[in-house]
Amino acid sequence: MNRAQELAGNLTAVQDRLGRACAAAGRLRAQVTLVAVTKTWPATDVALLAELGVRHVGESKDAEAAAKAAEVPGMTWHFVGRLQTNKARSVATYADVVHSVDRARLVRALSEGAQRAGRRVDALLQISLDGDPARAGATVDDVPALADLVAGSPGVRLAGVMAVAPLRADPRSSYDRLLAVSADLRTAHPDATAVSAGMSGDLEAAVAAGATYVRIGTALLGHRPPLVR
Ligand SMILES: *Cc1c(COP(=O)(O)O)cnc(C)c1O
Repeated sequence: MNRAQELAGNLTAVQDRLGRACAAAGRLRAQVTLVAVTKTWPATDVALLAELGVRHVGESKDAEAAAKAAEVPGMTWHFVGRLQTNKARSVATYADVVHSVDRARLVRALSEGAQRAGRRVDALLQISLDGDPARAGATVDDVPALADLVAGSPGVRLAGVMAVAPLRADPRSSYDRLLAVSADLRTAHPDATAVSAGMSGDLEAAVAAGATYVRIGTALLGHRPPLVR
């Protein structure tokens, strides 16, 4: 089996899972956008996924993402990883959606970069659901001020929220908490409707809770080679 056939089979399986999860939740399949997380995989895989109809691609490292975005035009690029402030200006030149906005300095840098590039970037506030300050994400208490800052910053649009389910927690109850944060956010910012939740292992729980973006790597592309640091 060649790589194109492997990716086609994996994509069919993921689409089946999404279809069943939406049906079980009484949601329309069109309410959930599949983001293929291609980090560590070559641009040729992105091109193969594009031929299979995938339009949304997620990456987590600036240099790798910038190279692939240049190599495979026409995709919608999502930045899903922890983002250093000094990389934000670069990310703002190619990313359409940044899922990991969790602090004021990052908002300012993204706004500056997007303005300089003449672009508008969708910003999702990454929420730390267990409130552990050592992990990425803003605390729930930080959300109103951070949301107002994004909403008032040119070049960025407040699109919604994102979370990674804490390890060992029940993903459904984690994602239910994220949806509660989203509901609160929407009282002040009604257009911030996006909810990024769900990965290969827990997409069903995320769709049941109300996710609008699922971020799927392993189930589409296979197990990533171990990172060399
Ligand atoms: C890598 C990554 C994913 C994809 O995870 P899989 O378990 O491989 O599907 C999703 N979200 C973020 C933030 C990631 O870094």
